[in-house]
Amino acid sequence: MELVDTHTHLYYLYGTAELDAQMQRCFKNGVRYCLLPNVDRESISKVMGTVSAFPDNCYAMMGLHPCDVKEDYRDELDVIEKALTAHKIYGIGEIGIDLHWDQSTLPLQQQAFRIQTGWAKELGLPVSIHCRNAFDELFELLEEVQDGRLTGVLHCFTGDAKQAQRTIDLGLHLGIGGVVTYKNAGLDAVVANLDLRYLVLETDSPYLPPVPHRGKKNESSYLLYIAQKIADLHRISIEEVAAATTENAKRIFSI
Ligand SMILES: [Zn+2]
Repeated sequence: MELVDTHTHLYYLYGTAELDAQMQRCFKNGVRYCLLPNVDRESISKVMGTVSAFPDNCYAMMGLHPCDVKEDYRDELDVIEKALTAHKIYGIGEIGIDLHWDQSTLPLQQQAFRIQTGWAKELGLPVSIHCRNAFDELFELLEEVQDGRLTGVLHCFTGDAKQAQRTIDLGLHLGIGGVVTYKNAGLDAVVANLDLRYLVLETDSPYLPPVPHRGKKNESSYLLYIAQKIADLHRISIEEVAAATTENAKRIFSI
């Protein structure tokens, strides 16, 4: 069985022994490939260092996280844009809209999103999109920038059935993470009715650990629990979930 974690910040561990330990646990659980979403200019070296340490398993994405979009965002984007040409990059991310932490930067976040989705379309790269408390704002932007060329994943999808369908209609896949294992989150009922061909798996580690590790630090090897939960919801084997979602991820990210 082969699984792809399409969104993991395991590169935060770069330079520590824990990175190697976590990768070994990934291999034990069948998590063979990890896509690493960059967040700001500081994280580029950690992403690229991790990719160099595990070139057959870790793949870099480059982007500016919406929570890191401040007044100086154009300087940040300049640095990140240079990294796009200096390295082999597999996606633009993570990018998006976050109105949970700071609503005052919305116009800047929208502008940064337009610029970064522009890169994705020009370079033929998929996007990894973060959306928190901002579905309406995100869908409006996607309607604006989607010209048939934008592909990728709405990462850590936690919306309802209607929002899932709208995302699919906009040409994107849904990244399903640990929230699907949470009681009372309601995501399990939504995912139970979604066709596997629109889904990819992710941990978003070290955040949002799945049951039975809730309350602790997440890691990419826990992707297994997310795959098993989706298998239970669809009443199929975990191998079938792995095969379908891994094929999707490999196709979307060209790995
Ligand atoms: Zn993330």
